[in-house]
Amino acid sequence: MHLNPYGEYAVLLAASLANDWPADRAGIVGRTRAFGMTMTFRAAPDDHARTRRVLDEWLTVVDAGDPTRRAELLNRQMAAVAAYPRLTDHDGEGWHLHYRDDDRPLPDVLAAVVSVGTALHLTTRGMHRLGRCAAGQDAGDPCAAVVVDVTRNGRQRYCSVRCANRAAVRRHRTREAAR
Ligand SMILES: [Zn+2]
Ligand SMILES: [Zn+2]
Repeated sequence: MHLNPYGEYAVLLAASLANDWPADRAGIVGRTRAFGMTMTFRAAPDDHARTRRVLDEWLTVVDAGDPTRRAELLNRQMAAVAAYPRLTDHDGEGWHLHYRDDDRPLPDVLAAVVSVGTALHLTTRGMHRLGRCAAGQDAGDPCAAVVVDVTRNGRQRYCSVRCANRAAVRRHRTREAAR
């Protein structure tokens, strides 16, 4: 997979898996394809459960508000899964870098791609550009979606237009009630 300089699709892939968790291993592999990964993965019976654990670990980074804490967690995850970068040209993708050893099982590949991709995203775009949808921070709102901010101005707070509108309606009502 090409980890572009911003780590963008690795972190978007992780958010997609977190926001819409596939029911089986084939669903996870399908998602990696949708986000541009071309490689085939060695299959193991616990791939689905282990990938879930990779994501739950990654969610601790998403939920760490403080940049120092966020960096600590991410450093620990990279130390556990990432290897020396190496050049590869598998599957006709053209030469690019992998941050892991060859022929790793699916959960290990994703752990490396997601942790390094998230580190690249945060360091190039900004440490704050990852979090949960702002609508869900209002009392009683159920949205817990992960938001990866890849916008130019760095002000994306909601996972969807729907959530942005719902929060706006709520703010309007609060203002009306205060009159
Ligand atoms: Zn690759
Ligand atoms: Zn939302």
